[in-house]
Amino acid sequence: MRAILATLVCLGLPVAAQQAADTVAPEGPGAGALHIPKMLRASAEAKAAGRPAVAGDWMIAAAHPRAVEAGAGVLRAGGTATDAMVAAQAVLGLVEPQSSGLGGGAFLVWHDGDTGEITTLDGRETAPLAATPTLFQDANGKPLDFFEAVVGGRSVGVPGTPALMAEAHERWGRADWSGLFDDAIRLAEEGFAVSPRLAGLVARDAGRLARFESTRAYFLPGGAPLRAGETLRNPAYAETLRILAQQGPEPFYTGDVAADIAASVQGAAGNPGRLSETDLAIYAVRERDPVCAPYRRYEVCGMGPPSSGGVTVGQILGLLAPHDLAALGPDSAEAWRLIGDASRLAFADRGRYLADSDFVPVPVRGLLDPGYLRGRSRLLRGDDALPEVAPGTPEFDHALGWGDGETLSQPSTSHISIVDAHGNALSMTTTIENAFGSRLMVRGFLLNNELTDFSFASHQDGRAVANAVAPGKRPRSSMAPTILRRDRQPVLVLGSPGGSRIIGYVAKTIIAWADWGMDVQEAVTLPHLVNRFGRYDIEPAAARLAPALEGMGYEVEARALTSGLHAVEIGERLTGGADPRREGLAYGE
Ligand code: GLU
Repeated sequence: MRAILATLVCLGLPVAAQQAADTVAPEGPGAGALHIPKMLRASAEAKAAGRPAVAGDWMIAAAHPRAVEAGAGVLRAGGTATDAMVAAQAVLGLVEPQSSGLGGGAFLVWHDGDTGEITTLDGRETAPLAATPTLFQDANGKPLDFFEAVVGGRSVGVPGTPALMAEAHERWGRADWSGLFDDAIRLAEEGFAVSPRLAGLVARDAGRLARFESTRAYFLPGGAPLRAGETLRNPAYAETLRILAQQGPEPFYTGDVAADIAASVQGAAGNPGRLSETDLAIYAVRERDPVCAPYRRYEVCGMGPPSSGGVTVGQILGLLAPHDLAALGPDSAEAWRLIGDASRLAFADRGRYLADSDFVPVPVRGLLDPGYLRGRSRLLRGDDALPEVAPGTPEFDHALGWGDGETLSQPSTSHISIVDAHGNALSMTTTIENAFGSRLMVRGFLLNNELTDFSFASHQDGRAVANAVAPGKRPRSSMAPTILRRDRQPVLVLGSPGGSRIIGYVAKTIIAWADWGMDVQEAVTLPHLVNRFGRYDIEPAAARLAPALEGMGYEVEARALTSGLHAVEIGERLTGGADPRREGLAYGE
């Protein structure tokens, strides 16, 4: 395994590994080093060396050192994983504003140390009541171009993150709510160093960020993109956090903040949306049934609809269960044929059946039924790539005949994994969808473009699409916050950003850890090979597998795959892995 890591590092692929060591100066406008607080230097060194962070009592892994620092402070003071999540999320919304924040949504999986129960909370954005199935179509019924739909008010769903933070805290928090925002408020007022990743993304997106005045003023001050290392202050965000700290989430849903959100969406020049104050007022976090599927000695628990994450990860693993991946190993093209085609089969089902189960019946049980998966798994018996893949026919509670949906989803997003000293574990994937969401900025935070996770087409060949837009509906997600358990005890907490590739990143990491015996950092770092719809996307570090995969009939494309996996393993000790492809760290004590 060390050989694989060495190749990866030689090829210089995941530059973030070196950024984490404070050493790298990427080319161009993102140039500059990531600032690492002193407390986290050892974590950064471990990550750069491909070793996991190690701790005894608690651990947090998240996408930015400042967020890890804030969460760690809360955990050190005896707070729960939920308390730490609130503090970390508040900081992420400041230092990684392109990925998640108060204007977005999230899914949270919780293992309760006292009861041993898994609970999942859905803080997904909802479509406005005025939304129609043709929201993302032009006057002739043709789907809009992705960015035409994204930039502006049309794509904005009711944010769920503020309500989710409050709901989770009410259930599982111990720390005083108002104190959890102190670090983020201080950083917003005193300023923080713009990270290389943020600077690079601002430069790349400058044209779109410039379309709206408040967004332009913040990200392109004086007309020039922010530079890495520059100190950035966000007093508007500090003020918003004070409101949240003192008054809870109500002002976001029924007060002044809600009014500003609705006004910004409806007034977005060139592409207004129809989100209203009523939409915000009726928003509610939903508790969903966790989706748990067996894999090897473990129970893999994740998020059910409206996310496809839990079901699709569970299907991939279920399809692979009859195969001895451990014997094949990570260097075997045959292992990747099995993984790739299992993933394609699961994605075919996902495309047809998965959507918001409050609006359409979703056959979750049928899709994960061992008999169904055994039958589908027989399709993997040959030696070559499957020439064609179609959805199966899982057992339904209702008779259904959906058309296949196609949903675009571009990667941004963030994942937080936390284990506290009270025996709780938390896995939360949090997003504003595309990098910088709708590009609309209100009171110091960006509004999401989550509604573009709906299918733009409402029908396919005359059949309705399950993930079509509808008033009050939640768009299908791929986010897969996951907790693996053994004998009802959590053993691995993980998740990633990455659009619909999230599912492949999470499944790979589980296989690397459970079948190939890698430690949590090795499993996260292992190069990605992801197959959703036929083409095999592989990281250049795995290029040696390309000829064999091509020989099996796959089209192979080498490309950067910027996952942002954060994982904590709970063994004798706690060990944490942070994705070398991004700026995050794992830290514990
Ligand atoms: N909006 C996507 C989803 O919910 C996540 C986007 C990403 O990971 O970048 O599936």
